[in-house]
Amino acid sequence: MIYDAIVIGSGPGGAVAAATLAQQGKSVLLADRQAFPRDKVCGDGLPIHVMLMLHEMGIDVRKAGIDYHRVTSLSIEAPSGRTLTTHEVSEDVFSMTATRMSFDLALHRKAIENGAKFEMMNITKPLMDGNRVVGVVERRDKTLIEHEAKVVIAADGASSALARTVRGRVQDADKTAVSIRAYGVLKKPMPPCVYFYFPRDLIPGYAWIFPSANGRCNIGVYLHNREYKARTEGLETLLKQFSERMQAEFPHEILSETAQTWQLPLFTDKQVRHVPGMMFVGDAGQFVNAITGGGIYPAMLTGRAAAQTALEVLDGTATEAAYEPRWQQAVGGSLGTAWLIKQYVASNAAVFNGIFWLATLPVLRAPVLRAMSGEHY
Ligand SMILES: Cc1cc2nc3c(=O)[nH]c(=O)nc-3n(C[C@H](O)[C@H](O)[C@H](O)COP(=O)(O)OP(=O)(O)OC[C@H]3O[C@@H](n4cnc5c(N)ncnc54)[C@H](O)[C@@H]3O)c2cc1C
Repeated sequence: MIYDAIVIGSGPGGAVAAATLAQQGKSVLLADRQAFPRDKVCGDGLPIHVMLMLHEMGIDVRKAGIDYHRVTSLSIEAPSGRTLTTHEVSEDVFSMTATRMSFDLALHRKAIENGAKFEMMNITKPLMDGNRVVGVVERRDKTLIEHEAKVVIAADGASSALARTVRGRVQDADKTAVSIRAYGVLKKPMPPCVYFYFPRDLIPGYAWIFPSANGRCNIGVYLHNREYKARTEGLETLLKQFSERMQAEFPHEILSETAQTWQLPLFTDKQVRHVPGMMFVGDAGQFVNAITGGGIYPAMLTGRAAAQTALEVLDGTATEAAYEPRWQQAVGGSLGTAWLIKQYVASNAAVFNGIFWLATLPVLRAPVLRAMSGEHY
């Protein structure tokens, strides 16, 4: 069978792409190497826009079985120790944290409910006809199996095999970050606020502690690879130190088995995100916010943009090249700004502190916090 579309990876990027295509009656194979529900190493922070997008997709956060925790404020500590906090006003639409186990499952189910066919597959490379991608190649035990499609969407995450075969492994330390997160059991409830700490020795990286569902917190450290490689301590040590620092304010006990690290491919430039027959979305397309490491909302937006382009490709009214202006319109501005802020503000303690000093003016507070938090609220 030749599918209209094959989507590889059922994280937020792939699930949104598959749900959008299947809703339009296209035959969609959605493939992931893991069975669902599955976890993903993450801070679980979801900006307010995610809830709006879920609503547009017909997913009601309150009814979809998502383990979410409503967040009503955001706090950022600058290297100087100055802290700025802001509050959300809306009651109906809100920022939240949500376990990836439950959040990704809700999106995955939506794709299937809309008509996508899900199969567990380990995809190793694209299937080529000349210079055009015409499907994917699955490795099952020692056998290679070909699956054909008119268009392929690569949403296979930060370790994307499909992206590697096209552009090689991203090794530039300025374009990648690493992060560790763990869950902790809170000994007393935390305020419904997401806390970001930018200490002098981590910038442009930071540490976070977020309240999570079921009396837990999500705690972690995010470092750009350039700074990480220059350090002697590992991420586990940095997490332990940060957890100790947080005990006085937010006492918690780390669940050590949940401490995991993973890589983040950062958005740094406007490189091309398609080849004939295939488009890259989410982490596979390097759409991660360089300040915050936030990539869920960009994955959802680029997943939708790729699906809209695929519909035009299937109608014969466009080629995959139409994806370029679409993703640029969807995420290019905000991710490009985040990269500049990472380079010129978050990397320099004096500039960072100066901007935070200015942002004590109420009129500047919201835009500064919005920019520094990757438009979190
Ligand atoms: C520690 C940490 C904290 C983070 N915190 C946040 C946060 O608070 N907020 C935020 O917005 N973002 C955060 N991120 C980033 C966020 O997790 C990613 O940007 C997001 O998951 C990207 O979604 P995706 O759909 O592109 O990829 P993923 O969610 O990674 O999904 C990719 C899917 O592809 C599948 N796959 C991979 N390879 C293959 C293969 N060969 N064949 C078949 N299937 C395959 C995987 O099994 C997976 O299900 C964090 C990342 C890290 C590492």
